[in-house]
Amino acid sequence: MRLANPLYALITLCLLAGMLESALAAQAKVSAVRTWAGPEHTRLVLDLDRPVSHDIFLLENPHRLVLDVPNARSTGSMPKPAEFGDTISRLRSGVRNGRDLRLVLDLTAEVKPRSFVLPPQDGQGHRLVVDLLPRRRATVPAPVAVPVAVAVPRRVPAPTGGELVIAIDAGHGGKDPGAIGKGGTREKDVTLAIARQLAVLLAREPNMRPLLIREGDYFVTLRGRTIKAREAQADLFVSIHADAIPHGNAAGASVYVLSTSGASNEAARWLAARENAADLVGGVTLEDRDPVIQTVLLDLFQSSTIDASFELGEAVLQRLGPLGGLHKVSVQQAGFAVLKSPDIPSILVETAFISNRREEQRLRDPGHQRRIAAAILEGIRSYATNRRPDVMLAARP
Ligand SMILES: [Zn+2]
Repeated sequence: MRLANPLYALITLCLLAGMLESALAAQAKVSAVRTWAGPEHTRLVLDLDRPVSHDIFLLENPHRLVLDVPNARSTGSMPKPAEFGDTISRLRSGVRNGRDLRLVLDLTAEVKPRSFVLPPQDGQGHRLVVDLLPRRRATVPAPVAVPVAVAVPRRVPAPTGGELVIAIDAGHGGKDPGAIGKGGTREKDVTLAIARQLAVLLAREPNMRPLLIREGDYFVTLRGRTIKAREAQADLFVSIHADAIPHGNAAGASVYVLSTSGASNEAARWLAARENAADLVGGVTLEDRDPVIQTVLLDLFQSSTIDASFELGEAVLQRLGPLGGLHKVSVQQAGFAVLKSPDIPSILVETAFISNRREEQRLRDPGHQRRIAAAILEGIRSYATNRRPDVMLAARP
């Protein structure tokens, strides 16, 4: 069998060549890298011949963003410096591990990246989009030198026009009266009254539409509240409550957003329900990723929603302060279940202390209820003008 060995070697070679060829063929081609500087963020787009996975991480001193696309190579054009906008000062591309594409963006400021992949549509092919959002709030540390990938909201906002759906959640209801004041005032009645006032005010706004989560004195589960908001594709969720402590004379308003530990648990829970996870992140196919990456994605996704919630919370808190004083001067974080929608910025407003006799009186007063509602509306308006100028400006006469 003298022929056997050379033949075997030949077959092996052919097999290897075949494997090499198919491996190379599987390499994604980036036909163009484009940048676009918009009023709110700078966008980087990679035009691709197939879907890819990717990793993003940030570096400091100077600020840089590194985008790694495994098993991909650039075959086309890079953007010209004139197209960089104010945020990107330089863009370099290179090959890593012989077959991965790496893009390094030198930045003029710290950014918050948001990335997603888009399937072919409207004559465009596969795309990987990275948005560089200005980082406004310093209280949540940026993930430094840790791969991040943030998913997009399920509902991509229309470029102009439309209206914002504001879910108003009157706390408690039905068999759950909430806290009860010394004068017998029930929290569930006060929250519903304020929620209704807020709905009236919001309905007058040309670019907003109120959605009352609870319209009467009946019980709704916490989960049921977030589901109703999601089904109506709410843009914001505002839960209205009145605070209470058994002893002492605490007074003033507080605003809560979801705590990150609460978010992590929720991310895990969402993942358990795969149909929800699939529905949750339109641009990204979570199914293709391993569970650890999925959890990281959802965590980061939720943390970007929490960032927005903070912004809304701060705007509302600012307006509530002059009205009746603040119990907590900064936005608080807690694991309230009702705040756990991963893609809807959500706040919980403790309007005042129902356990405080003076505040209980004011909470019963329709005039004061309306002033609280007006303060919340002002906060929503300020947030929306900042975050959604597309909607807010388009609807102006
Ligand atoms: Zn409550």
